[in-house]
Amino acid sequence: RVSRTVLKSPAEIGIMDEANRIIRGILDDLEERVRPGVTTGELDAFAEARIREAGGVPAFKGYPHRGDGNDFPGTICASINDEIVHGVPSHHTRLDEGDVISIDLGIRLNGYFGDSARTFAVGKISGEARRLMDVTRESLRLAVDQVAPGNRVSDIGFAVQTYVEQQGFSVVREFVGHGIGANLHEDPQIPNFGAPGRGLRLTSGMVLAIEPMVNAGGPDVVLSADDGWTARTKDGSLSAHFEVSVAVTEDGHKVLGGPLTD
Ligand code: MG
Ligand code: MG
Repeated sequence: RVSRTVLKSPAEIGIMDEANRIIRGILDDLEERVRPGVTTGELDAFAEARIREAGGVPAFKGYPHRGDGNDFPGTICASINDEIVHGVPSHHTRLDEGDVISIDLGIRLNGYFGDSARTFAVGKISGEARRLMDVTRESLRLAVDQVAPGNRVSDIGFAVQTYVEQQGFSVVREFVGHGIGANLHEDPQIPNFGAPGRGLRLTSGMVLAIEPMVNAGGPDVVLSADDGWTARTKDGSLSAHFEVSVAVTEDGHKVLGGPLTD
């Protein structure tokens, strides 16, 4: 993590816009491939091939695990149901009707990173799962609305937490959004909770990866002892995750890779 907030030039933001446009296209194609019976290993292989075709490099593959050699093996993070983030894709993990799967995808393009995630339904899902996905997506939209020069970093998390808790769900504390640029993770950290009006003041040229993680039950997290990566809800409740990279502009913000949609 780069421990200062690096401002990006318009040319750098242009590259990051293109990186996120590639991710957006791949997530659109993955959405069509998410169905009962497909393995997360197949989704991973598809994503990696598409990134390389586009001239990019998978950003998560080989990401170091606290220096112990257990580097992340996948191109995507594939987190199913009670898995929150950092699920490890596998040819042994098959999607079932009614699952929800968060797919997180990062790429490096011409020296700069893009990072975005969406949660998808596998076939027909429960009403609660649908509402969790809708609330999480809406919390991201409200978070992005806070991105403008003069606002502060904690205004983003305040918007997420307030809305999510009004809807009866909870936000994860252990994982946060981040600055992004020539490094995947830069300052500032962007929590999805907390009081407003604190932290760094947003300035034109910052690029932020904003990524609410919302649990249907309590906020507590447990880390998988099996793979050392997968974070899941402690109470076994469902979790959803959406992420976009956003540039602060002179008069507001620009969502990189294209506008938020439903
Ligand atoms: Mg991500
Ligand atoms: Mg991220």
